[in-house]
Amino acid sequence: MPETEVLHGQCLCGAVKVTLTGGMGRTMECHCSECQTVMGGGPAYLTMVDRANTDLSGERRGYTVNGASGGEVTRFFCPVCGTPTHSELESFPDKYVLKVGLFAPQSAAAPGIAIWTGSAPDWHPVTEGIPQFEKRPLPQK
Ligand SMILES: [Zn+2]
Ligand SMILES: [Zn+2]
Repeated sequence: MPETEVLHGQCLCGAVKVTLTGGMGRTMECHCSECQTVMGGGPAYLTMVDRANTDLSGERRGYTVNGASGGEVTRFFCPVCGTPTHSELESFPDKYVLKVGLFAPQSAAAPGIAIWTGSAPDWHPVTEGIPQFEKRPLPQK
């Protein structure tokens, strides 16, 4: 984590706020069918951050599914405005997967990896020139 800038984000209504002290990670674009449902049809743009560097405040609600990738995934959202905020993955207990849309435009880097492209409809924009995975990449860490 080279970045040390403090970043603030929030859901659309401002009830859920997030503060990052370790910077954002690489931006991922996820084309899985679950993200398509949550995001209204498009891919999700995400960044994985350390929980230790992340402060989330405000009431969130979560919904746990057996993620396409295997382990349980709990997808959180603001109960007031419905904005999807982040996910918690059983397989990454010390990380949050944040929606980059919580932050001001231009806060996130352009996508650096595309995952679950095999689930994308033909018309999804899949960023060219970055690693693409039909499903998910092998677990890293
Ligand atoms: Zn909200
Ligand atoms: Zn997804």
